[in-house]
Amino acid sequence: MFVANGSWEDGWSEGRMVDFQPLNLSPAACVLNYGQGLFEGMKARRTPDGKITLFRPEMNARRAAEGARRLVMPEVSESMFIKAVKKVAEENKRWVPPHGKGELYLRPILFGSSARLGVSPAEEYMFVVFAVPVGPYFKGGMTPISLRVSQNHHRAAPGGSGGVKAIGNYAPGMMPSKRAKSEGYSEIIYLDAVEHNYVEEVGAANFFCVKDGIVYTPELTGTILPGITRLSIIELARSMGLTVVEEKVSIDFALSCDEAFCAGTAAVISPIGSIQHGEIEEDFGGVGDTTLALYERLTGIMGGALEDSFNWTVEV
Ligand SMILES: *Cc1c(COP(=O)(O)O)cnc(C)c1O
Repeated sequence: MFVANGSWEDGWSEGRMVDFQPLNLSPAACVLNYGQGLFEGMKARRTPDGKITLFRPEMNARRAAEGARRLVMPEVSESMFIKAVKKVAEENKRWVPPHGKGELYLRPILFGSSARLGVSPAEEYMFVVFAVPVGPYFKGGMTPISLRVSQNHHRAAPGGSGGVKAIGNYAPGMMPSKRAKSEGYSEIIYLDAVEHNYVEEVGAANFFCVKDGIVYTPELTGTILPGITRLSIIELARSMGLTVVEEKVSIDFALSCDEAFCAGTAAVISPIGSIQHGEIEEDFGGVGDTTLALYERLTGIMGGALEDSFNWTVEV
């Protein structure tokens, strides 16, 4: 794993590669007490000809910098971030599964590491990147998931931290998500916290739906995490001649759509088979044509099986 130390006073150290190991932290570390931390998630993949690539790592670097500003942490520069994730992928390359058999998931984390008893930013910080190999998300074809709209919980409110990958955004979602899973659903859909009417996200993935050939996704208003998969789907769909509309998507409109899917680094695209909302149980049928076309194009570019005319992939 990669470890760098930083402070407001001295900036960031160059960082070093060390064996995967526990970190040494004070019980009064700012991250443990006040959640001053963020994470990123990305994948290193093996192309059919054996090269190892990352997908748009500069976007993860920029999002982490945005999060650092929101949480009053020293930013890791784009070049330092990219150097670190490349190094971790490179030194763990024996753990990158063969093409099509999975990926090496990279997890950069940035947090306030020094002791702080008052609620204020830490003086010292750590930037760590570790890695874990993951198997293919869909084994033997895409499987549509069943979702339930959360009636009592919201993920983020205007003015909060929903637009960055702040660690504190995630534990509160575990209870509603766990409950939905125990009742047979794969995940929950969050509606907006103000009107409880507009779709925001699916657990920790972005939402899309398709109606009469037009692709819709909730616009970024600060409460929705700007997913890199989301952005790439929008750009890819437009390049395929599809119309993509970013606007508020009401739950009633979403339920009236022909197809729905969610998007994130883990599964890339997960088709939504059904959505339960109050008394309604809307069935979308199998995997829609637009969902499948976007999935095949995007995973083809990511994995190096299709030509990357966008220059999204970066060789390690
Ligand atoms: C990480 C994340 C996503 C997906 O972002 P990607 O960059 O596509 O992986 C969507 N929603 C939330 C809440 C997230 O944390």
